[in-house]
Amino acid sequence: MHTDRLARFESPDFPVLSVYVNRQSLHASVRAGICDLLKPLRAYEGLDHDAQMSLRADFEAVVGLADRIDSDPSPAAAVFACQGEGLFEYLPLAAPVWDIASVSDRPYLRPLRSVRQPEAVVVAVVDRKHAWIYRGDGTVLWPLEVIEESESHKGNFGGFSGYEERGARSHAEALEHRHFRLVADRLFEHGRAPGYDRLVVGGHEETIAGFEAFLHPYLRDRLIGSFIVDPHTMSDAEIAGHVDGFLIDAQRRAERSLASKVSDTADEGGRAALGLTNVLEAVNNGAVDHLVVAGRFTRDGVVCPTCGRLERIGDRCPACGSDTTRVHDIVDAAIEQVLRTGGRAEQISVASPLDPHGIGALLRFSVRVA
Ligand SMILES: [Zn+2]
Repeated sequence: MHTDRLARFESPDFPVLSVYVNRQSLHASVRAGICDLLKPLRAYEGLDHDAQMSLRADFEAVVGLADRIDSDPSPAAAVFACQGEGLFEYLPLAAPVWDIASVSDRPYLRPLRSVRQPEAVVVAVVDRKHAWIYRGDGTVLWPLEVIEESESHKGNFGGFSGYEERGARSHAEALEHRHFRLVADRLFEHGRAPGYDRLVVGGHEETIAGFEAFLHPYLRDRLIGSFIVDPHTMSDAEIAGHVDGFLIDAQRRAERSLASKVSDTADEGGRAALGLTNVLEAVNNGAVDHLVVAGRFTRDGVVCPTCGRLERIGDRCPACGSDTTRVHDIVDAAIEQVLRTGGRAEQISVASPLDPHGIGALLRFSVRVA
């Protein structure tokens, strides 16, 4: 089931069990980890007989999945179960999440939303006569092609004629420039594939500097790092290690810059909200363009089942007067609301100016808090 379908799933009569578990956690086994997560939920109260039976069946079904999760290569898994409504979803996850189990009237999606998808990257290891081009996501590398310097001799590539290559002091240097230009052109082609919007370059120190000057400006903007490597002794694992480090650094830079943007915009009185009260008001007004949560900042709250209004407290909805429903994580409800109204939501993991506020948002229009 697609995440969006899970987001639309609601069950007023039967409880929905959501469980996130890492394959390698502090527990002796996945089974022990799951049992530990479920223990506080077994005393769940306020359910009628049928709902209680449905939840009990879900507990058993999730515990029964332990061996499968244990043998799955994925580092973590999410399970959503609601026997009474016929829901059972097992999702292997690409990255570790936080271990949590919850019971609600809909799937708890926040840990799932916060799992980063592996980022695609193009990697080029270049020397004077060759270039090894890969695609990868930091963990896995796929070789794309090896370019030989002789390929740039074919035809009249780049308008080359003898020593006329601009800036070249010798014939050897002119050939090198021509090779670099061919590699840069091929990289441009590879980098245009959808989703591949980052570039990493490797090679000998002097080659890297020379080669980067030939990169198309489009690619230079996407260059997230370069590493020194001897192309004749390099291994895929060594390259992947460098790439992974650059991807993590780039991600952290992007998160810090997003948090600063929210904080600075709010400080200047611009279209931004800081802190849970202000952010909830903005969410209720459909004003949030980009919601940003500092780590696992979590607060309980109430949701109006009739008009969807989110509040920290209150038995009755101030907008429509309906009885509200308690939720253990109002931030999760805010994230789902923002995504439903076409906004973006992100949970960042770096220390940032957002930390004292827990949550912030860039807004489409200003919202005054009553
Ligand atoms: Zn309401």
